[in-house]
Amino acid sequence: MLTGIHFLLTYMCNLECDHCFVYSGPNSKGTFTLNQIRKVLDEATKIGTIKWIYFEGGEPFLFYPVMLEGIKIAHSMGFKIGVVTNAYYATSEEDAELWLSPLCELGISDLSISDDSFHYEEEKDNPAKRVLAAAKRLGIPVDSICIEKPTVGINNNRPKGEPVVKGGALLKGRAVEKLLEELPRRRYDEFIECPEEDLKNPKRVHVDPYGYVHLCQGLSMGNMWAIPLSKLVKNYDADSHPICGPLVRGGPALLAKEYNVGHEDKYVDACHFCYLVRLALLEKFPQYLAPRQVYGLE
Ligand code: SF4
Repeated sequence: MLTGIHFLLTYMCNLECDHCFVYSGPNSKGTFTLNQIRKVLDEATKIGTIKWIYFEGGEPFLFYPVMLEGIKIAHSMGFKIGVVTNAYYATSEEDAELWLSPLCELGISDLSISDDSFHYEEEKDNPAKRVLAAAKRLGIPVDSICIEKPTVGINNNRPKGEPVVKGGALLKGRAVEKLLEELPRRRYDEFIECPEEDLKNPKRVHVDPYGYVHLCQGLSMGNMWAIPLSKLVKNYDADSHPICGPLVRGGPALLAKEYNVGHEDKYVDACHFCYLVRLALLEKFPQYLAPRQVYGLE
């Protein structure tokens, strides 16, 4: 049962993190208009099971007035609101309070702040810590998201204490271009399931300004500007989706096999393998593997 709609309010971001799933950066195109936000929220109401609306990016605070108005409308429709931010605007705790006060007045239910070495080098005092402190003072429910650069560790659950990758970064999007070096790999035929997303029964989807409804970044249910979101969600059937079907039945290994995609013998993890197979299938399924910019392409 789908309970959350996450707006990728904009693909633009002031930062260009190595682990970014959607290849965001200062020059990334694609931002929701207010009118598009209204349309999505109307459709979210029709779905009937949506409880949460999130505003994310990119960096949603780059389009602050649009984000605030979107929150206001969503709140008035009875949804619970969450926001994800990298806190770039927090030059001091006092100033951070200025940015957060309107969100507080609108009664947001979750603020998630990216605070890790991808975003900030200084650990003791950085914009994320300032927003965290300001949010706590204002009484906003707040948490930080900490994803570390991948490191190699030993997992005793695997045979012969085989090395595993730790840190929490998922190897899709820009991470595949930037973070693979030196990481240990496993045989491709071990990756027989999607370990991260419930593709059969998704609990949340991300929607972007181009209309794509993402089940995983760059893996779309369809386009909500062509088919209304409530209809897309109602008609979604993982088994008959050309990409999700094979992923559900046998992970990236089956996806590659079903479409005869040539591949390496070893990959770091399932997402690494899946992302590269999807990249190879982009031209074949442009309506489901989109937008191209999420794959680092023009
Ligand atoms: S295996 Fe594929 S669909 Fe699943 S989370 Fe990883 S990249 Fe996404």
